Amino acid sequence: MRLRNVKGARENIAACQFVIHNPEEQKGKWKEIFKNDHPIHIEVGMGKGKFIIELAQKNPDINYIGIEKFSSVLIRAIQKQEELEIPNLYFIRMDAENIVDVFDEEEVDQIYLNFSDPWPKDRHAKRRLTSKEFFGRYDQILRKDGFVIFKTDNRDLFDFSLEEVPVAGWKIKNSTYDLHNSEYVEGNVMTEYEERFVSEGKPINRLVAYRER
Ligand code: SAM
Repeated sequence: MRLRNVKGARENIAACQFVIHNPEEQKGKWKEIFKNDHPIHIEVGMGKGKFIIELAQKNPDINYIGIEKFSSVLIRAIQKQEELEIPNLYFIRMDAENIVDVFDEEEVDQIYLNFSDPWPKDRHAKRRLTSKEFFGRYDQILRKDGFVIFKTDNRDLFDFSLEEVPVAGWKIKNSTYDLHNSEYVEGNVMTEYEERFVSEGKPINRLVAYRER
């Protein structure tokens, strides 16, 4: 989801109070940003932010951080948050490859990955947000009993992820090839991409991964 050349996006992001501009400086200190010690849930690759904005509104006792690599997309989430001013929601513009520089050990309580880019070529497998390399990063920042929750319409990426989770040393708590016709749909919050795929009649895959303590 890259909207090219959104005029002024970088400048508006730089001026936005809901974007953490030097996130490495917050490592180990995220509770100070929120001024409470509520759990921290992050979405990696949040796009225009529909999912994380809705979750933050529904769960005021959870702190949310949305991570997005592209200014042209992030700006859409920022525009909504500037109207809403949800206190338990901040954003970071960064490549999640560097996520261990931003969060301390076990500083994050839950990780959401929604409709992540598939990177279909084998040589790009490391860039998939469900690769063992990324799970290694999540391992460093996620609370030991925390979950990674992944949704996608892309069956190839999903099958790769089901295989990659144990390779990374993690376990599958549950999974479905058809979230919207499964027991796990209760409480599901749809993302922008999910709304589109569901309206086209496409099944949504979902898995929950964890580590054994
Ligand atoms: N999660 C949203 C949804 O479900 O509607 C957006 C899905 S879109 C296909 C994937 C998003 O992840 C894009 O906005 C992309 O820029 C972002 N993304 C992909 N790789 C990323 C990375 N390594 N770090 C941060 N964001 C990333």
